[in-house]
Amino acid sequence: MDTLYLDNAATTPVHPAALNAAWPFLTSEFGNASSTHELGEHAAEALADARTRLASALGARAGEIVFTSGGTEGDNLAVVGLALANPRGKHIVSARTEHEAVLAALEYLERVHGFEISWLAVAKDAALNPDDLDTALRDDTTLVTLMMANNEVGTLHPVRELAERAHRRGALFHTDAVQAIGWIPLNVHDLGVDALTLSGHKIGAPKGSGAVFVRSGLAIEPLLHGGGQEGDRRSGTENVAWAVALATALELLPASASEGPRVARLRDDFIERVLSTVPEARLTGSTHDRLASIASFTLAGVGGEAILLELERRGVIVSSGSACAAGRDDPSHVLTACGFTDDEARTSVRFSLAHTTSAEDLMRAARALRESVDAVSGLAGPAAS
Ligand code: PLP
Repeated sequence: MDTLYLDNAATTPVHPAALNAAWPFLTSEFGNASSTHELGEHAAEALADARTRLASALGARAGEIVFTSGGTEGDNLAVVGLALANPRGKHIVSARTEHEAVLAALEYLERVHGFEISWLAVAKDAALNPDDLDTALRDDTTLVTLMMANNEVGTLHPVRELAERAHRRGALFHTDAVQAIGWIPLNVHDLGVDALTLSGHKIGAPKGSGAVFVRSGLAIEPLLHGGGQEGDRRSGTENVAWAVALATALELLPASASEGPRVARLRDDFIERVLSTVPEARLTGSTHDRLASIASFTLAGVGGEAILLELERRGVIVSSGSACAAGRDDPSHVLTACGFTDDEARTSVRFSLAHTTSAEDLMRAARALRESVDAVSGLAGPAAS
């Protein structure tokens, strides 16, 4: 049986071209980019080239890109780094539907540095009301951090508008664009953000690759102290190979302006099929402001983990909520923040599409979900059906 991988929001396979581009910098061209000999110079040139290409894909300048080890480090650097370097005050605005990388960074700022966080209310579909941001902003608000696209339910936030409102009151704006990249055109200056986080392994670059855009001129307190690499914003010998792979993977992404709507139509057909054939399924996330790649549901009375196993027996690989919470029986923090009960939030299942996912794949996935719900309900007996 062929495996149908629909867990692309958790991670993606490395694109062969990204690996090929990285390979010389793991082997023959293995120099340290800080070394002054020829091998080092080659590495430094490759790193500079990757930085320029990445910056140009984002509409940024090369000096505004900091290479990181991925989305978690990027979120921590942006949130903690901007908050600590900005003398304006100790107040931050965010939402409880953010990724754990942002939530835990905020919790750290609260606990260790005495910051105060205001949490914007989210509706059942994880949407925000931008007017609530105006109400939350204060004279001592240092930073607003709100993601572009939610990783569990796919709801989009109007980042450009939110950034504008934050700036009107003098606060900085960071967005986690880890899931949005590849699906939504990303131009940092059009968006008007001060910082933006990317992760490589969601777009065909290796795990452990990533970058943060930090608007030029902004002070940022580094998390890692040492040799002063990355313009003193991230010490540590640069991972040239992964930077090259990240820039290459980013350039290989299909043009998101046309690809987003095409995949969104496939996703909508899939959602419709699931809702009409699986009565236990309820769509989570927004029906209209939604990432093209994510279809997520709760399944009334049917445990998410059991469904994952049944789907896997049928060759369909998905996840329940976020991969980061997998392996623990915690209800999805995103769904509980949206007002779902803990029990409901334990029944979530997320299908995340790739650019290569076909209509046939999604018909198979919908059929497998129907069969899996039947199998789990049968096993659990009438009480759970
Ligand atoms: N932010 C979001 C929205 C994510 O979905 C993820 C990963 O799932 C991360 C941050 C963390 O990225 P990484 O796995 O590269 O640390």
